[in-house]
Amino acid sequence: MTITRPHGPEGLLTLTQTTSKELGEIAETLHHQTGRCGGFVASYEGEFFNNPAQNKSSAFLNYSIERKELVQSLMAQVSEPRLLSNIVWFSSYPTRFYLSSSGIKAMQDLHQKWAQLVRHLNFAKVELVKHKHFSQPSVVLTFQGVTNDVIVLGGHGDSINKDDDRPNAVSPGADDNASGISVLTEVIHILSQNDYKPQNTIKFMAYAAEEVGLLGSMDISGQYEDQGVNVLGVIQFDGTNYKGSKDLSMVLISDHTNLQQNMFLGSLIDTYLRTPWRYDKCGYACSDSYSWTYRGYPASFPAESRIKEENPRIHTSNDTLELSANTAIHSVNFAKLGLAYVIELDK
Ligand SMILES: [Zn+2]
Repeated sequence: MTITRPHGPEGLLTLTQTTSKELGEIAETLHHQTGRCGGFVASYEGEFFNNPAQNKSSAFLNYSIERKELVQSLMAQVSEPRLLSNIVWFSSYPTRFYLSSSGIKAMQDLHQKWAQLVRHLNFAKVELVKHKHFSQPSVVLTFQGVTNDVIVLGGHGDSINKDDDRPNAVSPGADDNASGISVLTEVIHILSQNDYKPQNTIKFMAYAAEEVGLLGSMDISGQYEDQGVNVLGVIQFDGTNYKGSKDLSMVLISDHTNLQQNMFLGSLIDTYLRTPWRYDKCGYACSDSYSWTYRGYPASFPAESRIKEENPRIHTSNDTLELSANTAIHSVNFAKLGLAYVIELDK
């Protein structure tokens, strides 16, 4: 693959040639050495990672950062107490396992909550999306834009207890992933309170059945692919409230994600959050972002810690707020990043 940056009105200056294996490190080096935010473009020949689908979106999306005033005014409205109360609420179901009755109820209740948040907006709607092979629905909230091009902010709503395979086994999933759903809810809350009317169509997705092989997101992304929907970008929030890496606020997962969009996120973090971050590899299809990558859409996954320092209690009956000192402090930056991402991509 070739890493380039824009040079002249339409030209590209080649910076380096590399293999996709070295991609994460090269991207990180470029970013930190040059101190430049954005401006790099990578072009791939042949397969995109292990992705059987062709990359559908243009490699030349507008990743410039030019809506600072709006982003900063929205970011200032992020509320840690509200993030916390939504984590408390969504982790109060005994389990959100995809086969459990409380897992179905949790998604129905989330549908109600999101509908309530946007009830005054005539360009917004919320749907329960049914899946063919299992009964837990996904929840999709749409801010209809001027165009039908889509920006997706997602996270999974289900939880799992890896030590007990009974459907009703306790799995509060406070970090994984009530915290990601709370971040989405916060971004929805702030956009809707500010009557944000988007240029492109913005979709918030709480996926069903991620923990059992990305079932909900594979289904939805497959439908988008079949319908030829132009997805401009996808961001995944899966675990946002556990500070596992003492020296970092955020980690961008570099495998099974899109390099250009990851660099854009790095620029957003440097511009708006000014907080330390690094790339890390997941090594496997570790979240719903993989489903979108698999379909050929540009997806990113900002994670809460390095993979080797991840929350030791996820997928157990002890994934509670205790490990986050009963606060939502670590999630605040993720909600801010969600706002910066959607506003700066929506042009
Ligand atoms: Zn998760």
